Amino acid sequence: MFKTERISALKPELEAIVGTGNVRTEEAEILMYSYDAGMARARPEVVINFTAADQVAPVVKVLHRAGVPFLPRLAGTNLSGGTIPLKGGAVLNLSRLKKIRQIDTAARLALVEPGVVNLELQKALEPYGYFYAPDPASQKVCTIGGNIGENAGGPLCLKYGVTSDNVEKLELVTPEGEVKTWSYRDPGPDLMSLMVGSEGTLCIVTHAWLKILPIPRHIKTSSAAFKSMDDAMSAVTRIIGDGIVPRALEAMDAVSLDAALNGKESPFPSGTEAVLIIELDGADAVKVKREFEDVKKICEHSKCAAFRVAADEAERDLLWSARKGAYPAMARLAPDVLVEDGVVPRPRLPEALRQTREILSKYKLTAGLLFHAGDGNLHPNIVFDRRDIQEVKRVKKAGYEILKSCIGLGGTISGEHGIGVEKRVAMNWLYGRAELDFFRKIKDAFDPAGLANPDKILPVASDARAEGPPEGLAERASLSPEARTVVDELRLRARSGARTAVTGLGTRLKADKLMEGTKPLDLKSLRGRAVIDRENLTARAEAGLPLEEFRAQLKDAGLNLELPDLKGSVGGLIASKVFPGIRDVLLGLEIVTADGELLELGGRTVKNVAGYDAVKLFCGSMGAYGVIIAATFALTAGARRQHAAFEEPAGWDAFEPDEYHRRLKRALDPGNLLNPWLYREPAAGGKDL
Ligand SMILES: Cc1cc2nc3c(=O)[nH]c(=O)nc-3n(C[C@H](O)[C@H](O)[C@H](O)COP(=O)(O)OP(=O)(O)OC[C@H]3O[C@@H](n4cnc5c(N)ncnc54)[C@H](O)[C@@H]3O)c2cc1C
Repeated sequence: MFKTERISALKPELEAIVGTGNVRTEEAEILMYSYDAGMARARPEVVINFTAADQVAPVVKVLHRAGVPFLPRLAGTNLSGGTIPLKGGAVLNLSRLKKIRQIDTAARLALVEPGVVNLELQKALEPYGYFYAPDPASQKVCTIGGNIGENAGGPLCLKYGVTSDNVEKLELVTPEGEVKTWSYRDPGPDLMSLMVGSEGTLCIVTHAWLKILPIPRHIKTSSAAFKSMDDAMSAVTRIIGDGIVPRALEAMDAVSLDAALNGKESPFPSGTEAVLIIELDGADAVKVKREFEDVKKICEHSKCAAFRVAADEAERDLLWSARKGAYPAMARLAPDVLVEDGVVPRPRLPEALRQTREILSKYKLTAGLLFHAGDGNLHPNIVFDRRDIQEVKRVKKAGYEILKSCIGLGGTISGEHGIGVEKRVAMNWLYGRAELDFFRKIKDAFDPAGLANPDKILPVASDARAEGPPEGLAERASLSPEARTVVDELRLRARSGARTAVTGLGTRLKADKLMEGTKPLDLKSLRGRAVIDRENLTARAEAGLPLEEFRAQLKDAGLNLELPDLKGSVGGLIASKVFPGIRDVLLGLEIVTADGELLELGGRTVKNVAGYDAVKLFCGSMGAYGVIIAATFALTAGARRQHAAFEEPAGWDAFEPDEYHRRLKRALDPGNLLNPWLYREPAAGGKDL
């Protein structure tokens, strides 16, 4: 059947669900949905408009049955080609699903539909004295569904976390049209977090319960102008290193500042090369004032040429409009702008900026450097004209070289804009074969027919591994001899098909749980000294390290892991998820899979949206998806906060796998070799998986 015919054949059935007039195939509609804010272009066969959230599942069922690809789309402001229908099919336009269904200040939750515009939610929350933390620069138009699809961030994410950290629960439709409601607090592997940032390739979100916060009583905004970018970066490192967590710590270079000023007189001294916007907040006026004084001293010490405090709301708005308006300002300079989105560990920012400038100069390109300095997320805004084919080629090459330089500095290829189609090839440079296979298994488990936003995130055959084999993360993992022994042992067991019971310190997994026929694998030997990166505020700890020992080592270094007092081993804490908040401080994991592959997931940067969030998936995986060898955590400097006493919840291990937990288990451990009792079906007489 021709493509046009397959849609005509389905039209009556689709119209019966969404209403006549909402299944659109006119040329104007098709053209309008064949592009987004990225560079790629492709035509859909049909655009389906939704007027109610419960129309999504039945439409997806029809498309799935007919084998028609589909993708969810909202404002289309993503910068990675995420809403381009590469294989034709249907664009599911959810932008009319924009009801804020509930604001519950007692529970600190807002229940919203995916089409709610980020800024509209902020406006709705304000009269209640609340706000929603993720604040992308595009917040006037981008939506909550798109923010979840991309795991979007913004200036406030330095203190309050990215979208994933601010979602409590999701209602979603799977690629086969099933409706699921998942929270990160559910027992077992964290499916909800896996959905955040999955760019429409694993699910379509139809409702989101978002965490809302009281608007801080005291907010102090200041700007600091520097004559050199290095001085500005040294101030950033010292602010964070002193244990101050501003609600925002943003940077702009002279090019973006000039563009934002657009001919107006600069409020900064002549020769200003970099400006920081530093915003502090809190409920305690004295603390905010003290932190502000400290920030001022640090900036002065770092040779700041001028330090200004926003005297009132109008001046504060002015500072922020310069920062948030920098992209449109750059867009005035040329017909097109490419916004890159690399991330490096914060202390490597000066090198990253230097290398970025060298690359831009090599390709004779102009760019404004804008970045979330507090979390090492760089956004070079490169201006160009897409009608000039040679210039487009240079822009692409420069963009890729900037990403490679971020990888070389221990960073990643996307902090908030996603991979979409435009960075698929770069996934080859960031990850080794084992990590990419792992992501592919996740995709296939959720979408075996390959219909949900196809050819996004994961490299396809045409994304050849450009310059020879990459240095994959797995190859880079530096393992202790004890960890190497565990890896080798698991490889042997994988070959012989031996079943393993993974145990940490035995705090939670008791011997009576061990199923007959499994061989224990004790990880107590993995307790080498944690590797602490004082400057980057991260620490890597092996899985068997007791938490008390880990804490003591951090305390000696004047650092903290912001968790309540918990017992057990590092790996046991993650795998059991007795404390769901573990996900907030976990940055990376080293895993051995059931077939003995070594994976390095996540990393040392506080932001990373390259690929599926498998790090969070392992929270609550109870050893059944892979064996945790080591974990990397985000730390804080200074005195540890008081944490409420934490009682482990009774029955934390009452885990009943969802069908999608089972699908993942079948994909990741087809022989049910790791902690096999978790995936036995008692009703089926002990049949596995
Ligand atoms: C000027 C400008 C500034 C920007 N600034 C920032 C910034 O500061 N921070 C930042 O993070 N991003 C920024 N962005 C990028 C962009 O705004 C974000 O990625 C935003 O989250 C996209 O939202 P959207 O509504 O436009 O989603 P879309 O672009 O329509 O969709 C984004 C992705 O989510 C998927 N998706 C859409 N709806 C759903 C759903 N219901 N369920 C599951 N998946 C879904 C889509 O298939 C697509 O893959 C900026 C973009 C521009 C143009």
